[in-house]
Amino acid sequence: MKYCSSCGRLYEAQEEQCPRCRRPLAAEAKQEDSVYLVTAGGFELDRICAALEDAGIPYEQKAAKKMVAAPVVSGVAGATDVLVAYMDYAKAQDVLIGVGALSVPAQEDADPQQEDGQIEDGEAAQMSRGKLLFWRILSVVLLILLVWAVVAGTDTVISWVKQWFSF
Ligand SMILES: [Zn+2]
Repeated sequence: MKYCSSCGRLYEAQEEQCPRCRRPLAAEAKQEDSVYLVTAGGFELDRICAALEDAGIPYEQKAAKKMVAAPVVSGVAGATDVLVAYMDYAKAQDVLIGVGALSVPAQEDADPQQEDGQIEDGEAAQMSRGKLLFWRILSVVLLILLVWAVVAGTDTVISWVKQWFSF
């Protein structure tokens, strides 16, 4: 993971500069570096801080930088960046996922354009998995119905035939 020394965000190794700060990324985050965890405000921020305190993870708060390029990203008034030491990063993410404050960690690191693509990809993958499951269940149900129809049909035919012969 590469690291932006200005905003503390972590990026995949292929990134050359921070899309937010336009700064070249440091080679690798050090254990004691403060890395960006999440942006939140109000009750959500209180909840996140309480969860981190419960888990014994030290954190710092920084007023979120206003993004000129994509103001949509942080619409929360008084949004605050929460930063933790890099050595606590994975644990802190788990804590946030645990309290539902963070859904998919990888998507937090990408720039807005990539974020959109990743989310769409994720949704598409999830949707096709859902569809696949749906079709599997449907095919099982259809198979059961088919077997039932054949059995029931055969029974009916046999009983007709029996009736024919009993007369
Ligand atoms: Zn940055």
